Amino acid sequence: MRSLFVVVAAGLSLSSATAVAAGCTEPGYLVGAATDDITGPIVGVGMMGYADLGQSDEGLHMRLRARSLVVSDACNQATVALVIDDVSMTFYSVKQAVVDLLERQLPGVFNNSNVLLSATHSHAGPGGYAHHFLYNITTGGFRPKVFNAIVEGTVRSIVRAYKQRVAARLSVVQGQLEGMQYNRSPEAYQNNPIAERQRYATNTDRGMLLLKAETAEGAPIAAFNWFAVHGVSLPLSNKLVSGDNKGLAAYLFERRLGVTYTNFETPEFVAGFEQANAGDISPYDPDDKAVAGGDGFARNLDSAQAQMGKAWELFQSADGLFLNGPVAAVHRFEDLVNRPVSAKYAGFEGARTCNGVLGVSFAAGTKNGRPFPIFPQHAVFGKTWLPITLMPTEQACHQQKVLLLPTGFARPTPWTASTAPFQIVRIGELAVIAAPFEITTMAGRRLRHQVLQTLANSGVKFVALSGLANEYLHYVTTPEEYMVQAYEGGATLFGPQSLAHYTEIFDELAIDLGTGRQRSGGVPPRNLSAEQVILPRGVLIDLPPRHGRFGAVKSDTLAAYSRGATAKVDFWGAHPNNRLVPNQSYLTVEQWLNDQWQAKLYDWDPDTQMRWRRAGIAGSLVSIDWTIAMDTTPGLYRICHSGEAKVSLTGHHQPYQGCSKQFEVLP
Ligand SMILES: [Zn+2]
Repeated sequence: MRSLFVVVAAGLSLSSATAVAAGCTEPGYLVGAATDDITGPIVGVGMMGYADLGQSDEGLHMRLRARSLVVSDACNQATVALVIDDVSMTFYSVKQAVVDLLERQLPGVFNNSNVLLSATHSHAGPGGYAHHFLYNITTGGFRPKVFNAIVEGTVRSIVRAYKQRVAARLSVVQGQLEGMQYNRSPEAYQNNPIAERQRYATNTDRGMLLLKAETAEGAPIAAFNWFAVHGVSLPLSNKLVSGDNKGLAAYLFERRLGVTYTNFETPEFVAGFEQANAGDISPYDPDDKAVAGGDGFARNLDSAQAQMGKAWELFQSADGLFLNGPVAAVHRFEDLVNRPVSAKYAGFEGARTCNGVLGVSFAAGTKNGRPFPIFPQHAVFGKTWLPITLMPTEQACHQQKVLLLPTGFARPTPWTASTAPFQIVRIGELAVIAAPFEITTMAGRRLRHQVLQTLANSGVKFVALSGLANEYLHYVTTPEEYMVQAYEGGATLFGPQSLAHYTEIFDELAIDLGTGRQRSGGVPPRNLSAEQVILPRGVLIDLPPRHGRFGAVKSDTLAAYSRGATAKVDFWGAHPNNRLVPNQSYLTVEQWLNDQWQAKLYDWDPDTQMRWRRAGIAGSLVSIDWTIAMDTTPGLYRICHSGEAKVSLTGHHQPYQGCSKQFEVLP
């Protein structure tokens, strides 16, 4: 019977356009949104993104957050969750654990198919949450505390968003953000056909698409936007945990609508800044010495303010198209190794993907960060590189890529994924591709174009692409860009036909989404959670200063500051990882008001920075900076720090708190 076309089987759910229209008398959406803390340990963990052994976290700029938007079809209750985490990339390890935990908390609601888990690509968060070995080399192995913080915070945000759903209207509005993107591999882009390049004004995709959710009365619920820019505003030298430009943009947007991050009882507005086809897109000109140096905080703010400003403008705009139509999702697992690719997508007969291998140009890194500068970019086999190889069959498959790390061959388990989830989520006229990779500007345009063409017949008008979603397969370029072997081509895991293969898979999913008849859901990858090597670690004991207590001030603030200045205080503290309580703050900036101290800022506010360093064998120094914003109300302030000290080897924790002296912020 076609009138109620909802398939739920083995983690697969699909509802079709025909079904909703036929069975529904009161169409509409139920929408909820929520954010929660996924920060995890802020000290002693290798950071994820730049893959550099020396970049281990030492403090906090901003808390990392999961932001969820849950949409249900009011008629048939078909539900999808769009989730954006302030992390470098999503791994299926996380997705799997999120879906399992959701099933325990809300049985029968969520599954692999209807949860889209994506990442902002911040390079400033703790790593160690992948199950594939490659990503844990620079993080000191698999880190359960990082993994659990991400999984549990993500689930809390999805569950709250689901429970807070109300009748709502959704609209899509599009615009362009100029001057905030720089193609870091222009020579590769330039190798795309001239006729294709002439269709676009620039070698970056400036489009921003915004999905707005509001109640029937017009109260804002959420704004999720898609814009392509790498989360590398903060450089390799940064050791403070931060959401980078998209995390900060979301914060700025949410604060503007009064979000406090302290109230979880009533719904708060959520702004999601999703990643798009940012594979070759830097947030700053890496060749401009004036912006490419320094600590990165100024250019991070520039990028965040620009993205927030454009999103705000679109959010206020009356030009949006109100969405109408079904909520649906299609999903399947695909083995990507040595797969045939149809001539329709490859352009010739007999095309195949290769085994997963990373090339020399991958190891060279990018202009945004070069972990192994001994390797050159643009290493092209037989052209700029000698035609000598230990893997002749594999090298022939990968063509121009000079093979370096055969991560797909590693035993007993591959170092990178060979099977990955592919997914398209539909909300009315909007379809969202969940891309488990970083896709370049032109490759992303081609993929979106194909999916839109296929779905146009079933009423889809907009296609957004969430990069770094559900799993991580490194990069994908166009075959023409691949020939040049810039960094992104060297990191196109399955060889020159990777894009054609991914496009074929997504196009089949789009066809399934349109017809409501999904072919096989594929075979999920093996769960590697039991195979993780976890090193014993943790805080042995914390010692107080010789003549003092935990929380004592070592170096105090001045008596007064002008606005724009930075107040600084150093505390004798304890190891921050003793207290990994989500949504709690290690610090407050307090103002004396109505005869009491009132907290004005917390550790998630970007005007504060907290740094930890070891003092002696088991002592801790915690330094807190507050850069006093120009709109701060003059008055009396103090800076406080709290934590927990591990005071015995058996694990007894003692809470402590300390405050600076009071100081004046001058008018
Ligand atoms: Zn990247």
